[in-house]
Amino acid sequence: KKYVYSWGNGEAEGSSKMKHLLGGKGANLAEMASLGFPTPGGFTITTEMCDYYWKNGKVFPQELKAEVDAAIEKLEKISGKRFGDNENPLLVSVRSGAAVSMPGMMDTILNLGLNDVSVKALAKLSNNERFAYDSYRRFMQMFGDVALGIEHAKFEEKLNIVKREKGVTGDLELDAEDLKKVVELYKEAYKEAGLDFPQDPKKQMWAAIEAVFGSWNNERAIKYRAINGIKEGELLGTAVNVQMMAFGNMGEDSGTGVAFTRNPNTGEKKFYGEYLLNAQGEDVVAGIRTPEPMEKLNEVNPEVYKQLCDIMTKLENHFRDMQDIEFTMEKGKLYLLQTRTGKRTSAAAVKIAVDMLKEGLITEEEAVMRVKPADIEKLLHPMFDAEELKKAQYMGKGLPASPGAATGMAIFSADKAEEKAEEGIPVILVRPETSPEDVGGMNAAEGILTATGGMTSHAAVVARGMGKTAIVGAANLEIDENAKTATINGVTIKENDWVSLDGNEGKYYAGKVKTIKPQGLHGDIAELLEVADKLADLGVRANADIPRDAKVAREFGAKGIGLCRTEHMFFDEARIMKMRTMIVSKTVEQREAALSELLPFQKADFKGLFEAMEGYGVTIRYLDPPLHEFLPNDEEQMKEIAPQLGISVEELKEIVENLHEFNPMMGHRGCRLSITYPEIAVMQTKAVIGAAIEVAKEGKKVRPEIMIPLVGKVDELKFLRELVEKTANELIKESGIDLEYKVGTMIEVPRAAATADQIAQQADFFSFGTNDLTQLTLGFSRDDYGKFIKEYIKEGIYESDPFQHIDRRGVGRMIKMALNDGREVNPLLKTGVCGEHGGDPESIEFCHLVGLDYVSCSPYRVPVARLAAAQAAV
Ligand code: ADP
Ligand code: MG
Ligand code: MG
Repeated sequence: KKYVYSWGNGEAEGSSKMKHLLGGKGANLAEMASLGFPTPGGFTITTEMCDYYWKNGKVFPQELKAEVDAAIEKLEKISGKRFGDNENPLLVSVRSGAAVSMPGMMDTILNLGLNDVSVKALAKLSNNERFAYDSYRRFMQMFGDVALGIEHAKFEEKLNIVKREKGVTGDLELDAEDLKKVVELYKEAYKEAGLDFPQDPKKQMWAAIEAVFGSWNNERAIKYRAINGIKEGELLGTAVNVQMMAFGNMGEDSGTGVAFTRNPNTGEKKFYGEYLLNAQGEDVVAGIRTPEPMEKLNEVNPEVYKQLCDIMTKLENHFRDMQDIEFTMEKGKLYLLQTRTGKRTSAAAVKIAVDMLKEGLITEEEAVMRVKPADIEKLLHPMFDAEELKKAQYMGKGLPASPGAATGMAIFSADKAEEKAEEGIPVILVRPETSPEDVGGMNAAEGILTATGGMTSHAAVVARGMGKTAIVGAANLEIDENAKTATINGVTIKENDWVSLDGNEGKYYAGKVKTIKPQGLHGDIAELLEVADKLADLGVRANADIPRDAKVAREFGAKGIGLCRTEHMFFDEARIMKMRTMIVSKTVEQREAALSELLPFQKADFKGLFEAMEGYGVTIRYLDPPLHEFLPNDEEQMKEIAPQLGISVEELKEIVENLHEFNPMMGHRGCRLSITYPEIAVMQTKAVIGAAIEVAKEGKKVRPEIMIPLVGKVDELKFLRELVEKTANELIKESGIDLEYKVGTMIEVPRAAATADQIAQQADFFSFGTNDLTQLTLGFSRDDYGKFIKEYIKEGIYESDPFQHIDRRGVGRMIKMALNDGREVNPLLKTGVCGEHGGDPESIEFCHLVGLDYVSCSPYRVPVARLAAAQAAV
């Protein structure tokens, strides 16, 4: 078995296709090397070795040492330097890198190979003593922290002693002599921790390798995986990359930076990046010094700038996606240290996908796969209410690191933020800056506000990835972590005070600001979704009960209504009394009279739906809930309502008691209502068909679909179908026009699924009501399952909430069975899903796989469903 893969000098043993084995960083470094990009040589120890290490009591197999030695030898040949040499030492970085990028989650050690002797050689070779000792003290600090677990703060203390003695604040103000002192003090820090700084480079390297593999299971790595839904065992582990150093800290002709091939916030096709001169490694990201924008490099060193731009263009064309790169300039020579697919905001994801499609860089299928359904969701999500915002107190402006609008209580530590969020309180995490330890708190917060750091700081990168609103580098904001206050321009917010962040503008406010959902689809999202519609097999309809919702659904691209819950029309104040009159009626005549008063309302609503959905199918479900839902259940209300209904309070009470059911969800509801009170179905048919006729007469195309709920036996459907047809056909005949309509049923009772072959003989369509079907198939009451579902998921009994993601094995099997049996009898049978699952991407994929015709979901989820439907088909 091969555990070590080398690259360098225009060649590589690995490639970008080997991410699982080499990790993302290692695989792409290999790819860059073989493409001839200027990346320092190195080698990768595979993720398989990480797996081996953890599975074998943290030891390495015999053969690894020889492989590593051979790889070092190759590197020595390429570089002309020798590892552990006293004259011309080869210095390396030891870097982690898993198959999935986990920014800042695991630790990197730079300048490894330095010791008391080789530091002098480095000084001599570079003719730069300051640089040599700066590298040495950085190495001692990173190595102590990462490999030996000596607290970072211990080193900071020592560094501060020297700075204080000299009366300076910045690292750059320390000269070689000062840094030598720092080195000596760092050695003391090791001693104080009961450790010795190892002078032997081989020992340093193996300790570093072990530390990287060890970091795979440190707390923040585990947390990151949990937050990002990376399951235990899905990845083998992290790889270790050992790479020759490129020095960005050799003076003002050196530097280091990060850059994106397109703007990761807006998606704009323009290079975007930041750099620092005379700096190394993480200085840019750490937010210690404020970096310069990439364009400024053009003034400092136009040649390097041009080369960088050229490389970025090539990289993007090669990888065919927006790249996020790390570069270092060593005495005017450019090196690439990393490239990866850049994280981006939801808006940028959409814009980049659409732009790249137009540029011909990617296919329609790829464009659609580049955007997550959650991105679409986010883009249709909150903004601040402009009027409300005027009332909030403006505090200041920072960098708009991650867009959106967030309002919550100010909390000054990540742990506290997690606690508060647990209680359901919206939180804004306010920090001087963030570090990987804060990730849990960031995830729990609604938004993040930091005082320092640039657009590529930890806080910014992580927040964008999470889709959290964030403002970073809020200049002049004084954050006192101990007092738990943040002050600017005389405005102070304390812990638990409301604060609001506008991530689009970077402005933050004291006070609570109402957020509103943006309306409508346009521009890039609309274009992307049109492409999605082309690729999808599933149609997307909306659940809409009233004309207003139907209009919203159309704007969001719904092609029809998959579920109109007619009862929602009855809860309206003006109508509910008429409904109640119907319910308390003692005779058929009384009931018919009450129903005839409801008829015009229903008809008008249906007309609105048909008009909004012109040309598309509109599925109207007949009255479904148990009747007691329309009646009051407290004394007070009964006293008020009884006289209006012309009956005594006692009578009303008795009716309510009679309607009481132990399991209302399995009680007198659905088609059972219309079978006992056929006049209800007659009235609803008159309303549907009457409305359809009127709209058809206006010259519009109408496609009414009458849906009978809760059928379990074909005879129920047959009974009602006959009634509906009789009423409808009479009306149509009278009208003198041609009108087609369908009669179908919901499949939501397990018996219906089991006898679908019979039911299909009476049905033009099946709509799977997966809410009830899940409830009845699993025997989980939707209203009560919350009491145990968390335990169930924790114990792995159910993988996820079956009301959120369809239970493929159980409920899914019912659907498959009903579909096959139904289509065998009735090849024209139209099939769809209505209910919560219709808007859930994971369930939508299932609907596609079993070959349903459409899904139906709430209007605001229609765009998400359109994308998910396309992704399922690609
Ligand atoms: P992360 O995954 O946290 O970004 P990296 O391994 O990429 O960690 O490295 C951290 C920083 O050190 C980056 O800025 C990177 O460019 C820099 N770095 C890593 N290896 C080298 C090297 N061989 N020469 C110069 N800089 C390096
Ligand atoms: Mg990196
Ligand atoms: Mg139902």
